[in-house]
Amino acid sequence: MAAAVRVRYAPSPTGQPHIGNIRTALFNWLFARHHGGKFIVRIEDTDQTRFVDGAIEAILDGLRWLNIDWDEGPEAGGPYAPYEQSRRLEIYRRMAEQLVDQGNAYYCYCSREELERLRRARREGRSRSDSLPVGEANLQWGNGCNCRRLGRAGAVSEPVGADNRVVRFAMPESGVTRVHDLIRGDIEWSNELQEDFVILKSDGFPTYHLAVVADDHLMEISHVMRAEEWLPSTPRHLQLYSAFGFEPPEFAHLPMITGPDRAKLSKRHGATAIGEYREQGYLPEAMLNFMVLLGWSLDGSTEVVTLRQIIDNFTLDRITKSAAIFDQEKLLWMNGVYIRDLPAEELARRMAEYIPRHLDADEQDYLCNIAPLVQERLKRLDESDDITACFFGELPPDYDPATLVQKGMDVEGALAALQSALSKLRSIPPGGDFGHEKLEAALGETCQGLELSRRQFFGLLRTAATGRAVSPPLFETMQVMGREKVLARLRLAARKLDGEG
Ligand code: GLU
Repeated sequence: MAAAVRVRYAPSPTGQPHIGNIRTALFNWLFARHHGGKFIVRIEDTDQTRFVDGAIEAILDGLRWLNIDWDEGPEAGGPYAPYEQSRRLEIYRRMAEQLVDQGNAYYCYCSREELERLRRARREGRSRSDSLPVGEANLQWGNGCNCRRLGRAGAVSEPVGADNRVVRFAMPESGVTRVHDLIRGDIEWSNELQEDFVILKSDGFPTYHLAVVADDHLMEISHVMRAEEWLPSTPRHLQLYSAFGFEPPEFAHLPMITGPDRAKLSKRHGATAIGEYREQGYLPEAMLNFMVLLGWSLDGSTEVVTLRQIIDNFTLDRITKSAAIFDQEKLLWMNGVYIRDLPAEELARRMAEYIPRHLDADEQDYLCNIAPLVQERLKRLDESDDITACFFGELPPDYDPATLVQKGMDVEGALAALQSALSKLRSIPPGGDFGHEKLEAALGETCQGLELSRRQFFGLLRTAATGRAVSPPLFETMQVMGREKVLARLRLAARKLDGEG
C-alpha cells in the first residue's frame, strides 16, 4: 500500500454501541495496525435530536475494554480524546457556503409537506412542471425542488442559519457515479435517481453527508471502512468530493451481520450492547476473536486466532462479501476456550471482578487455588460468585440434609460413613499431608471398610464438604479448603444427619 494508511471509526452517539458497531471499530483498528497506519476515533454528533447522554462514554469504554486504542485527537498528547464533530461546526458551515458559492448547493425553503408532495408527484410521473405552481415544485429540475433553480439564479443570499432554511446539494442530473469498493467490487448509481440532499440543516449543523466528507478529507483518511448500510450514501459522498475537488479515499463496505435465521441481527439472537457482554463475563480477548470472525477469516476454518495472527493477516481479501452470521453458542464456546487458557492467577484476578464482595489478600490467594478447579466448567466470568460460593465461609451454603443420603443408603448408614471419614481425616495431623492424592488414598481405604460403593461414599462427602451434589473434583476441593474447614463441614453434616435420624 503506497500512501500511509489512515482509517477512522466514526460512531454516532445515539445509544449503547452494539456488536456490529464495535466490529466496525475493530476492523478499522486491525487494518491500521496491520499496515502500521493510524486509527482515529471521531464522534459524529451532528444530529442533536438523536444524541443520547452517556453514549460517548459507553462507546469509549467498549473500545478500552477491548484494548482498541486510537492514535490522535484534537489536542496533542495522549491519551487522546476523540474528535467530536459538534466542535467543528464552523468548518462545515464554511464548506457548505463554498458549495453554494460554486453553484453546487443551494438554499432550500421547502417544507416537509412540499417535499413529500414533490416526491409523490415524481413517483406518479406527473413531471409537467407547468402544472405545478412555482415555489412548490418545478420538476424540470429532476433531482431537486424549485429552490434549486432560484438558488442558481442567485436569488437567495441570506446567511445560513435563517429559520426553515437548509442547504441542499445539487446532484448531477445525468450520468452515473461509480465506486470501486475494495470488498464489493465495482458499483455504479444512476445520478438521475438521486435526490438533492441536505448538507446543512436549519439549526446550522451539517448533516452526516457533509461532515463525513469534510472530515475524511481534512483528516486525510485513506480508507473508509464502514458497514454495508452506508453503501447507498456513497454516491452522495463521491459527488461531494468531486464538487470540492478533493481526492476521494478508498471505500470498503463491511458485510452485514445477521442471526442464524439470516434476519438482521437483534436482541432476539442474543446480540446486545458491548457493555453487556462485559457484564456477562465475556473475556475481551474472546470477544475480539469472536467479532473478527464476523466477516474476516484467517483461512476459512481456524476459529481461535491470536491477536498477533489476526493483525499479521488482516488484509481486505480475507473479508467476505456475504453476510456474517452471529452465533451466540459459538461465542460462549469461545469464551470457555479463552478461560481455560488463562494462568490460574490471572483467572483468579478476573474472577474477583465478578465477585461482589471485597476479597482481602488471603481470600485472593485462596481464589488463586480455587481457580484451576473451576476453570474447566466456567463458561462466563459472571458465574464466578456462584461457582466459588461453596469454598468460602467456614460452613457451606445451607443445604437440605436429605441430599447427604445417597441413593441406596439410609440415614444411619450415611452417619456412620461420615463418622468413619471424620476419624480418618482427624488421623492426619494438622499441618500434615492434606494433598488430594493422600486424601483419595486414605478415604478410598475407608470406603473399603464400609458397605458402600465409592459413588455413594464420595457423593456423601461431596455434599458434606460443599453443600452441593455437583462440585469441582472432590479431593482437590478438599485439599484447597484445608483440613480444618473440611472437618468443620463434615461435623456439621453429621449433626444434620443426627437431627434427621
Ligand atoms: N456516523 C456513522 C455511523 O454512525 C458513520 C458512518 C461512516 O462510517 O461513514 O455509523
